Amino acid sequence: DVPVHDAVLGRSARTYAGRPAFVDAADGASVTYAGLDAHSRRTAAALAEAGVRKGDVVALHSPNSLVWPGVFYGITRAGATVTPAGVLSTAGELARQVRDSRASWIVTTSALLPTAEDAAKRVGGVREIFVCDRAEGYRSVLDLRESTAPEPRPALTPGEDLAVLPYSSGTTALPKGVMLTHRSVATNLAQQQPLLPTGPDDVILAIMPFSHGYGQASLLHAPLRSGSTVVLLPAPFDLGAFLAAVETYRVTVLYLAPPIVLALARHPDVADYDLSSVRWALCGAAPLDADLADACARRLGLTALGNGYGMTEASPGIAATTGRDAAMPHGTAGRIAPSTEIRIVGTEDGRDLGVEEVGEIFVRGPQVMKGYLGQPEETDAMVDDAGWLRTGDVGRIDADGWLFVVDRVKELIKYKGYQVAPAELEGVLLSHPGIADAAVTGVPDEHGGEVPKAFVVRTADAAGAALTGEDVMAYVAGRVAPYKKVRQVAFTDAVPRAASGKILRRRLR
Ligand code: ATP
Ligand code: MG
Repeated sequence: DVPVHDAVLGRSARTYAGRPAFVDAADGASVTYAGLDAHSRRTAAALAEAGVRKGDVVALHSPNSLVWPGVFYGITRAGATVTPAGVLSTAGELARQVRDSRASWIVTTSALLPTAEDAAKRVGGVREIFVCDRAEGYRSVLDLRESTAPEPRPALTPGEDLAVLPYSSGTTALPKGVMLTHRSVATNLAQQQPLLPTGPDDVILAIMPFSHGYGQASLLHAPLRSGSTVVLLPAPFDLGAFLAAVETYRVTVLYLAPPIVLALARHPDVADYDLSSVRWALCGAAPLDADLADACARRLGLTALGNGYGMTEASPGIAATTGRDAAMPHGTAGRIAPSTEIRIVGTEDGRDLGVEEVGEIFVRGPQVMKGYLGQPEETDAMVDDAGWLRTGDVGRIDADGWLFVVDRVKELIKYKGYQVAPAELEGVLLSHPGIADAAVTGVPDEHGGEVPKAFVVRTADAAGAALTGEDVMAYVAGRVAPYKKVRQVAFTDAVPRAASGKILRRRLR
């Protein structure tokens, strides 16, 4: 039971001292485990000198970089709480997060400084903005200060003190501040280890943002604890750069999201690269069609694609699999993490359901959040007195204990007496050669109550050019039960997505 920086770096900083922890694929610059450890300690000292104290909140507003991890663990070492902000945030959104989290400091980059300054101006109460660029190899402005301050040694209580205050993705409502203690984050790290084993020989390619729970867990905490090397890929995502990095760095493990899985399954260039170093690859963050997962696995030379299910409120891991288990059933989200309990509850009657029955997923375990910051009612609606977190997701468990996630309760389309999962229809649509991308949502309908409407992005080739709305509806109708038919189609240039790859269905509506 130790603070998260000790759980992650305590042993690794000594055992793997001279090994590279992070490599920047843009120029090959790297930082060793010892360097990262030292950087986090200097950052903690500099922050303490600037007045950061235990219990304070520091916003970390930067794209993935070699300095991001050192700043993150530097903030927690100072006893403060990190609230990570996505780089796509507007000044207004950042201001909302800074105000809501009561962050008194912002760490940002030169490129993002105008946004941070604008946000600070709107909020008031921000004491200082630090610029944290990668200069002179591996250094930040924080550690370039002529600081002789001693490293702070705050007395942290892992089960009480907050390590991170992430904001949920805001897919379904305004983002909420999720209170995660040192214990819940460190415990989740230990829970995920047996499901997703990595070691010092692994090279992991980082494409998900560190600002999101998925990226933090899979690309910072877990690899660092196990002595792996993480290769950073510059944003915005580019498939060619991604494939080249896998080949150049002999990447062994990939954490993916659905749009990248789609690109890997489809893009002709994939065959031009040597991807034989990849041991396993996992998709997380949103539902993925099982056939699409298989197509991607084949392109990567794997027997199956792994999956990981989690949410910000669960620190974030709930279930996962690498895809290497021969017993893994098609379409599963994985095995439930150790010391985690799952209940499947009827969405209509609240009754506990049995094996193979579909209902809302409830989770209990040490990784469940302390609550939403400043929102006791929202917290009570999500976590009951016995510690059960209602995920808002629909799923089932099979007889062998594998978890399946269907979709969110709120996204289910209520057609007549039936419930239709948009994720399933999206999977069908994506199997059409003329469809490059697709999203489905329910729209009001006089007769059905609600009907599925598909937003379709056509491919640039002949197959896409010829595609009509009638074709799309007929294609889906031939593959699903009649009540699931797509009944409206709109063609669009792009599907709106969050940084983690999730479809923003409320924007479609
Ligand atoms: P908000 O709660 O603010 O609306 P969000 O729920 O998208 O946003 P996150 O905590 O980042 O914020 O996402 C968790 C959700 O992502 C889960 O509740 C689930 O709906 C979805 N999800 C995550 N992993 C998977 C997966 N493997 N399969 C299906 N859905 C997944
Ligand atoms: Mg959510």
